[in-house]
Amino acid sequence: MRNPKGDIYLFNTLTRKREKFVPIEKGKVRMYCCGPTVYWYAHIGNFRTYIFEDVLRRVLEFNGFEVKHVMNITDVGHLTSDADTGEDKMEVGAQRERKTVWEIADFYAEKFFEDSERLNILRPTIVCRATDHIADMIEFIRKLEEKGYTYIIDDGVYFDTLKLKNYGKLTGMNFERLNETLKAGARVEYNPNKRNLTDFCLWRFSPKDRKRQMEWDSPWGVGFPGWHIECTVMGMKYLGEHFDIHCGGIDHIPIHHTNEIAQAEAATGRPPANYWLHGAFLVFGKSMKMAKSAGEIITVQTIMDEGFDPLAFRYLCLTAHYRSELVFTWESLQSAQNALSTLREHVRSLAENLEGSVSRSPKFEEYYEKFLEAVNDDLNMPKALALTWVLVREEKMLTNREKYDLLMEFDKVFALDLARNVQREEKLPPEAEELIRKREDARKAKDWTAADKIREQLRAMGIIVEDTPQGVRWRIEKR
Ligand SMILES: [Zn+2]
Repeated sequence: MRNPKGDIYLFNTLTRKREKFVPIEKGKVRMYCCGPTVYWYAHIGNFRTYIFEDVLRRVLEFNGFEVKHVMNITDVGHLTSDADTGEDKMEVGAQRERKTVWEIADFYAEKFFEDSERLNILRPTIVCRATDHIADMIEFIRKLEEKGYTYIIDDGVYFDTLKLKNYGKLTGMNFERLNETLKAGARVEYNPNKRNLTDFCLWRFSPKDRKRQMEWDSPWGVGFPGWHIECTVMGMKYLGEHFDIHCGGIDHIPIHHTNEIAQAEAATGRPPANYWLHGAFLVFGKSMKMAKSAGEIITVQTIMDEGFDPLAFRYLCLTAHYRSELVFTWESLQSAQNALSTLREHVRSLAENLEGSVSRSPKFEEYYEKFLEAVNDDLNMPKALALTWVLVREEKMLTNREKYDLLMEFDKVFALDLARNVQREEKLPPEAEELIRKREDARKAKDWTAADKIREQLRAMGIIVEDTPQGVRWRIEKR
């Protein structure tokens, strides 16, 4: 660990304060992030939140922490309105595409991880699906029932939020005000049999007039779990009853996370996590340029189809603090891409003349400390980026070697592939170039056996070939 101060500060929604981060277990962080509902493509607004969570994880790891990162996949029970009404999003998706719910879940989960990878988002240590944990959820609801927190009405088993002291503390509102706010903002019909507007469904009964694709037996009748219970149950299962950090988007604060806390407090007497972090929205500004797919949601694929590097979007996200709204326009994405190209070009030119010793001058240490200070200050990435540009313009005080090494260190957190152009500059022997061309032909002809054979030949020469969405990439293995 190269952090002499060792202090990380994070803004905790639960206390509404910037707090020093103290892990439960020394050197380790247990972190839960709410994952996607896999009924449709995730859009870039969703991905802004996942990038923020990825930056958080990378900053923790940069400080030497071992991070256990758990993310759920919601594949049942998330209704079209967060206020516990409407249809199950998964069943709606299945009807739309005339597929089974399971097929929809697999397809969009795969797409989600494909896009995550394009954005250099690290895969969580554990990815868990709601439908794999139905029995655990039923057991948990029984526990809540035994403790007297539940009641049953026509359409399901509900959590009585009035039974809990301090329900809604994450929102900063008390019980009465939360209920009044819900009443004032009610655009949808609430089940009139609910005791309080804030009460939420733990187990929902299947409709009597039609058969759902996903339903299970339970002590209360055939049905499916409510949305909030899965995160409480899986978080506790994989991270223990009490862990360090829980993250999500700000839209999770009033209902989803509030109810997660309620369920956990009813069972264990305290919130499941110490620090609650929330990412602000990406909003869409007016662009001069119109995308070809105007009117549809913007996905990672959309920005690639428009000719952008997915990591330009990651760069754009780093230009705003995660708790500030970020305005997306095609022009702002273009500026981000230009900045990213300039940085990569700079790294390439540094790599051409890596003179200078590997010893660290005081100036090197100064930059390193400043970077650490910025990222440890509630993930101040705009400040870290600004420092990077100062470093790029630094002319006398650092050697190329030092500048290059600093940028590579920073990129462990940025994850912008700053050295991408450097790899391309490496020279391949002509026979290897010929083999790569042959392999491309084989792939085009869908002759996978031949393509694999050539890949092995190249590997024997120390050349690793990777097929990426941007095309074939190769690197020479250091020996
Ligand atoms: Zn969740």
